[in-house]
Amino acid sequence: MRELVELSLAHLDTFLSSLPEQAAWNNADAEQAARSVMEPMPEQGQAVQTILRRFFDEVVPVALNTTSPGYLAYVPGGGLPQAAVADLIAGITNRFVTVWSAAPAIAQIETTVIRWFCEMIGYSTGSGGFLTSGGSLANLSAIVTARRRRADHDFQTATIYTSDQTHHSICKAAVLAGFPAENIRQIEVDQRWRVRVDCLARQVARDRAAGFHPLIVVAQAGTTNTGAVDNLSALADLATAEELWLHADAAYGGFFMLTQRGQRALEGLARADSVTLDPHKGLFLPYGTGCLLVRNLDDLKKAHDMDGAYMPSLSDDPDFLDFSQLSPELSRDFRGLRVWLPLQLHGAGAFRQALDEKLDLAQFAARQLQAIDEKLHDTLEIMAEPQLSIVTFRICRAGLDQDATNALNKRLLAEINAPRRVYLTSTELNGNFAIRICVLSFRTHLDRMRECVELIGRAAEQILS
Ligand SMILES: *Cc1c(COP(=O)(O)O)cnc(C)c1O
Repeated sequence: MRELVELSLAHLDTFLSSLPEQAAWNNADAEQAARSVMEPMPEQGQAVQTILRRFFDEVVPVALNTTSPGYLAYVPGGGLPQAAVADLIAGITNRFVTVWSAAPAIAQIETTVIRWFCEMIGYSTGSGGFLTSGGSLANLSAIVTARRRRADHDFQTATIYTSDQTHHSICKAAVLAGFPAENIRQIEVDQRWRVRVDCLARQVARDRAAGFHPLIVVAQAGTTNTGAVDNLSALADLATAEELWLHADAAYGGFFMLTQRGQRALEGLARADSVTLDPHKGLFLPYGTGCLLVRNLDDLKKAHDMDGAYMPSLSDDPDFLDFSQLSPELSRDFRGLRVWLPLQLHGAGAFRQALDEKLDLAQFAARQLQAIDEKLHDTLEIMAEPQLSIVTFRICRAGLDQDATNALNKRLLAEINAPRRVYLTSTELNGNFAIRICVLSFRTHLDRMRECVELIGRAAEQILS
């Protein structure tokens, strides 16, 4: 055991200390690397050194480097190593956390973490939630909970409203929860990519008139495309008036609630009936930790409460919760510790500062892109100014149609990424290929962002020349 941990740690030390120099992405010999681990189950064990060397030298490097400070793709987080130490402890002590009586204080750590998150978003007593494996599963549980509470057996005519900027996990959740796919209404957005609440209200009225049962509104509290935040207060007003369940998908944006700017941007979040958070994004944890919060814990209880004769006794004290009664899972990992340990070690202030820094870095990138635009005579268009920590842009050349412009931007993206110092990805906005900078890793600082915009400037100049 000691040898395994010490040897692993030696490899991990090398891995962590070389991160600034590591490529931000690497797909060299991808197929060969993948094929190298297609092998039969070994009958005999092998030496630790051999296994680890092979893993760290041949397997780990072939990947998008999600731990690199230059990883500005999709939605980063970075993966705090302290959380991985929590997992080591959790795995070795191997406590059972989803029934309170099986490990009362351990389960309480997870309840405490949920309490912190509830307070962070402005939920008051009576709220609660649970940790999931990610935002997609949190969204699924939200939709299922809304369905169980508001339309248990009759939901074939129920309709769900969200914007055309919604994350695909919302549509997937609705379909997995049994809603007909054609009952998902994706409403148009305004100039800043926020749902048109007036159009949404008109669609609700049209649906009622046509015999549908409007049931759920999903608000975007930070879209994956551009970081746009819907008008949460207006959606809450509408949801109240129309008696709709309001779910806010804050998987990307939620932890900006730790900052003052985030609180202003996400004003009204606490009025949602349920909120998805993703600690493996905005709290920088390793992949595998999402979270669903509900304003009224009773909704989760009524949606999930089931018991078995073989089960240990369940708690009826409202302070002491059985996660198995609030969520779909019974046996699972102890997710609470990997949130609790980093917060205990660093304090919330460190996370607040890091998130504030990400907001600043996105503003910095937007200003630098403007400077590039001036230098290159109005050819670089910022498609979405940062509302949180994403900025989206493209280049345009007079006389090119949409297809040609998209092809040009695809080349630009490849050119920016080619030196492997940063890794950016793209999306589509109104049919236009759009390049995104999403800064959310705790390891990304001004130096790398400066390098990123320099790379963009050089690549744009080259593509346009
Ligand atoms: C990332 C994301 C999701 C999905 O979360 P996973 O943790 O990847 O399952 C859902 N909604 C939004 C807005 C996201 O950014």
